[in-house]
Amino acid sequence: MRRKTQLIHGGITGDEHTGAVSVPIYQVSTYKQDGVGQHKGYEYSRTGNPTRHALEELIKDIEGGKAGFAFGSGMAAITSVLMLYKSGDHIIFTDDVYGGTYRLVSNVLNRFNLDVSFVDTSDQAKIKEAIKPNTKAIYVETPTNPLLKVTDLQATADLAKEHGLTFIVDNTFSTPYWQNPIDHGADIVLHSATKYLGGHSDVVAGLVVVNTEELASDLHFILNSAGAVLGPQDSWLLMRGIKTLGVRMEEIESNTREFISFLQQHPQVTNIYYPGLESHNGHDTHQKQARGAGGMVSFDVGSDENAEKLLTNLRYFTLAESLGAVESLISVPAKMTHASIPKERRAELGITDGLVRVSIGLEDVEDLKEDFEKALRG
Ligand SMILES: *Cc1c(COP(=O)(O)O)cnc(C)c1O
Repeated sequence: MRRKTQLIHGGITGDEHTGAVSVPIYQVSTYKQDGVGQHKGYEYSRTGNPTRHALEELIKDIEGGKAGFAFGSGMAAITSVLMLYKSGDHIIFTDDVYGGTYRLVSNVLNRFNLDVSFVDTSDQAKIKEAIKPNTKAIYVETPTNPLLKVTDLQATADLAKEHGLTFIVDNTFSTPYWQNPIDHGADIVLHSATKYLGGHSDVVAGLVVVNTEELASDLHFILNSAGAVLGPQDSWLLMRGIKTLGVRMEEIESNTREFISFLQQHPQVTNIYYPGLESHNGHDTHQKQARGAGGMVSFDVGSDENAEKLLTNLRYFTLAESLGAVESLISVPAKMTHASIPKERRAELGITDGLVRVSIGLEDVEDLKEDFEKALRG
């Protein structure tokens, strides 16, 4: 089955009892048993629910793994995956990991003595240096936020295998339409499905796919024990979103490339970060492991006054957290996601006051260009 077809025909489709082509929303918590322990595969909806199960089968198929799991948010998914580890275990993280993941690890899981290192995983030598006798896993994002740094998936998977470590990838930015980390040796792939998979800014959810039966059984044990599951309505909304992931990602890619050509001509724009550009540091690696570069672009508009002008005057780019939606979104990392980092450290990282991050949506790109041009003029 080819990718676009799989988004529509993968997993469990429709309802065999009625012929409905959409999976029913099983709004139910418990299931009648014919005798003690005699049931039809479902006992209680925390453990398993047919609508959630259909979504879990779908994400398993499109990421190419052994089992899928649906959680109440991306953070619930990440928390549950990290519960596979115990006090004293060491995990290596990408240094510019999603802020919520950083907060979880540094301010919550630190209470349970999870030992962590944050390293620049775009440099294989730095990952290698960080491996210790108690290291159990490597956790990466590629590309990252906001500078779209790229980690070599296959090389990291080989390194993980050599040292007996689990390799975990947050694939939110690329989506399974453009990148399948399991094909490059990852053991666990996870998503904030709130972003591109849902795609319409109307659902908060997290998805995980694992590539071994052992991980599947361990993670289901945690899902059922900790109970951070996704409800049936949201599971259904997510399946509805995933059906159009292919057309959305293709159109977003073409809008983004067109918008970047416009930015390249713009006198006030410098330093465009996009893995699809040959000038980008991680371009070759990204090209090797992904089929598209996505809709996230960061660039410098010269000053915080210019950034402010954009935020005040733009009409079609919504100032908001999040990404990956039908509507284009804009954020200024120095003032929003990275505001808590001291200015000098931000400068070292390349996060200047004029750095702007956009998530390109599905509007007519001509409107996006005009809007940007006018907003920057003031
Ligand atoms: C948004 C996001 C998360 C967290 O997901 P929520 O659904 O907001 O809990 C994790 N990783 C990345 C890369 C994200 O963009």
